[in-house]
Amino acid sequence: MTTTTAAQAAYVVASLLFILSLAGLSQHRTSRSGVVWGIAGMVIALAATIGLASRSITAAGLVLIAVATAVGAGIGLWRARVVEMTGMPELIAVMHSFVGLAAALVGWNGYLDVDAELTGSLLRIHHAEVFLGVFIGAVTFTGSVVAYLKLSARIKSRPLMLPGRHALNLGALAAFAVLTVAFVARPHMGLLIAVTVLALALGAHLVASIGGGDMPVVVSMLNSYSGWAAAASGFLLANNLLIVTGALVGSSGAYLSYIMCKAMNRSFLSVIAGGFGARTVTSGDAGDLGEHQEISAEDTAELLRDASSVIITPGYGMAVAQAQYPVAELARKLRDRGIEVRFGIHPVAGRLPGHMNVLLAEANVPYDIVLDMDEINDDFAATSVVLVIGANDTVNPAATDDPASPIAGMPVLHVWEAAHVVVFKRSMAAGYAGVQNPLFFRENSRMLFGDARQRVDAILSSLDATDAPAAAMVGTAN
Ligand code: NDP
Repeated sequence: MTTTTAAQAAYVVASLLFILSLAGLSQHRTSRSGVVWGIAGMVIALAATIGLASRSITAAGLVLIAVATAVGAGIGLWRARVVEMTGMPELIAVMHSFVGLAAALVGWNGYLDVDAELTGSLLRIHHAEVFLGVFIGAVTFTGSVVAYLKLSARIKSRPLMLPGRHALNLGALAAFAVLTVAFVARPHMGLLIAVTVLALALGAHLVASIGGGDMPVVVSMLNSYSGWAAAASGFLLANNLLIVTGALVGSSGAYLSYIMCKAMNRSFLSVIAGGFGARTVTSGDAGDLGEHQEISAEDTAELLRDASSVIITPGYGMAVAQAQYPVAELARKLRDRGIEVRFGIHPVAGRLPGHMNVLLAEANVPYDIVLDMDEINDDFAATSVVLVIGANDTVNPAATDDPASPIAGMPVLHVWEAAHVVVFKRSMAAGYAGVQNPLFFRENSRMLFGDARQRVDAILSSLDATDAPAAAMVGTAN
């Protein structure tokens, strides 16, 4: 078997492993094996690519590749080990930016180093690929950098509302079309520089003009862009595996964006067009919403003791506080007392698709009591107590009650329909979308201020303290 045939066979195996990986990652139970399939596919892909390249690369070149791979793998391992769960979205945004940058550089390389055998229409196709690769890569690069800055709160998550922003976006797309025709007809470095600058500006503007509430869609959309950027590089490098893998990432990212849009009742087109239709974000001021009422950990424990059913709705604050372990312990304790306990998960709670599911799985919460928003939303009205653990935007009734709200139309968990709602957070601050939450001022809502982990620990201690005398009395009676 020649090296090329062996490499192509390895590419087929790697592609199948990537498909298995995607299938595995689509469910909690199989997600760990999904990761293993993905790693195996990538190892095979790397080995086959280096084997293929070794035919035309000097020994010094191979050493350079080995060193670059080792350094890259070392940095990747280190970052993955030290990153907090709350830092994952930023890490992913940074990785997308690398893919975008790599695609743009591969595009530039394709322009500077043209295969002498390419002529006529093949050469024109090559130049179209160069232009497209640089465009998608550069949009992905700056878009991901701005997403990183927003997700890590280095810049405000509020949308940038430039006057005529939609005209700017449409103008940039029209300019790209004109430049592409000109470049394919007469390739010129000036045109490539122009499209690079245009795409860098467009990527930054598209993401900057999207509001905090729509960021989940942006993350999955950039994931999709990075896939298409990789596929474009695959065409330029004539690498089938890169084309297949890029298309897999591109299409699965696009599908995830579609699911997120549906979950948030947003139009897919409006989000990718850079916040088209986004309303002006209101401030986080309480305005005339009234007075909020506080509750102590001890009184919350009392409320729980008397409850027959409890729903816990976690959000980003649970991830920040790392409160999933005491929350899981609390759920176990309440269930032991015969109280029905379930978790209600909003599709965009936290900062990553599936963020809450991962945290709860980490704390060994049984899968069958973790329900999606659609499965649990009708049950709040018949529930004694809802514990809102560090969630805010995802439980905001303004989404359903206030058509002028920036999050209007986004489906939310109807926690306020329960008999009692206890909200765990540190202050009256607004959530990620920057919108004040009328839930905090409802008659049946109580605020339990402080770090969510410490508050849940205090409730556990309070429950234990009342259990102990009861157990002692049973002991004396016996
Ligand atoms: P939010 O981000 O709306 O609010 C989180 C709340 O947690 C804050 O109000 C904060 O209040 C509280 N909090 C923070 N730290 C702690 C702590 N240590 N202890 C207790 N409370 C704490 O949360 P949601 O999960 O409800 O909503 C997610 C938001 O993020 C949505 O707007 C979504 O669109 C967006 N988003 C989601 C992504 C995804 O893929 N899931 C990606 C990007 C954005 P305080 O400071 O007062 O404590």
